[in-house]
Amino acid sequence: MKLHGQKVGVPFKEYLHAEVAAIVKCKNLHNAHSIHVYRYSKEGAPMIAKPCPICESVIKSAGIKHIYFTVHGE
Ligand SMILES: [Zn+2]
Repeated sequence: MKLHGQKVGVPFKEYLHAEVAAIVKCKNLHNAHSIHVYRYSKEGAPMIAKPCPICESVIKSAGIKHIYFTVHGE
């Protein structure tokens, strides 16, 4: 996180994000095609889950080509 935070200009944001945690837990990344990031409110409405610049950098470095995420629902 720190390395990629420095890479995208936010070195102080070095806490672990869910996307990075998922990539770290993934045992076989070389065939990874996409990552899905879903976030919902307590009421079940979809919420914005666009990966931050740090996570986008980590996802790109991992060779993952497609990112799918929820957007805010009304
Ligand atoms: Zn993030």
